[in-house]
Amino acid sequence: MTAAVRMKLLVTGGAGYIGSVCAARLVGAGHEVVVLDNLCTGHADAIPAGCRFVPGEVAEAGPLLAEGFDGVLHFAARSLVGESMTDPQRYWWGNVVASVRLLDAMTEHGIGRLVFSSTAATYGEPQSVPITEDDATRPTNPYGATKLAIDHAITSYAAAHGLAAVSLRYFNVGGAFDRHGERHTVETHLIPLVLQVALGQRDKITIFGDDWPTADGTCIRDYIHVTDLADAHELALESAQPGCHRVYNLGNGEGFSVREVIETCREVTGHPIPAEVAGRRPGDPAVLIASSERARADLGWKPERAELSVIVADAWDFARRKV
Ligand code: UDP
Repeated sequence: MTAAVRMKLLVTGGAGYIGSVCAARLVGAGHEVVVLDNLCTGHADAIPAGCRFVPGEVAEAGPLLAEGFDGVLHFAARSLVGESMTDPQRYWWGNVVASVRLLDAMTEHGIGRLVFSSTAATYGEPQSVPITEDDATRPTNPYGATKLAIDHAITSYAAAHGLAAVSLRYFNVGGAFDRHGERHTVETHLIPLVLQVALGQRDKITIFGDDWPTADGTCIRDYIHVTDLADAHELALESAQPGCHRVYNLGNGEGFSVREVIETCREVTGHPIPAEVAGRRPGDPAVLIASSERARADLGWKPERAELSVIVADAWDFARRKV
């Protein structure tokens, strides 16, 4: 995408997986990008070429914002569900307090445009699928609760201070772009873990339960390519309207079971990928599938790399490069 208007943008969390892909695409579209990241989970070498890097905390972004920006894309966050259950203060301080301070600094310095990384975890156990933006939000863990709290804060700042804001609720993000892919120190996500088996870095993949109420008994998720997600951020940034906070789900609208994901990884890698079934992981809903109709209708968004095999193939190319 080429930007209609060149903007100066702050990308918080631009050294992380999704933030670095979005920052790279924003630079490619012609924007001026500054990355703010404390590198607690991100990697300095993931920060895209062409970005200015400012090491630091989101909660202390005020002096940086004082130099003037057209908008902020806020990715920096704690995002491990299990950790959020045992260490909630890290999530309430690191996600909610830091984000409110960011909103205050944006208000103080007249920065009127925000795109926020929200999550399907704000919905909790769905009443029905596909999940729409009008469905009930009842998060089942502190991670989802903190992201939802930030969404509420954004709504009120938009109404009171004229902020033009969009929250994007990601479903299961996968794939890679250029040299930017998933490499968490503590890896919990299915696709990178399965690919670690194919790389010989672990013996087998553990399937968390095969007694779910689904066709093959394993959980179903909606996988979306990180570059399609990045495209949605650019469209959201351009379409945001002052005084308005809009929320969009981002997924492909199609679900794949854990077994189907493992099978696709076998096909892509040519590795047998041994799997064993263990008990359910606490907090997992059986099925999460997004309705992204609103993003398609309002933003004109259309995923280009929707097939699971493409998502896995791009993740595999990235995983092999890192070895
Ligand atoms: N999963 C699994 N084994 C693993 C990691 C994940 O069976 O080693 C399952 C998990 O229970 C969920 C699905 O894979 O049903 C996707 O999990 P992931 O952590 O990738 O994303 P989430 O949906 O939790 O955001």
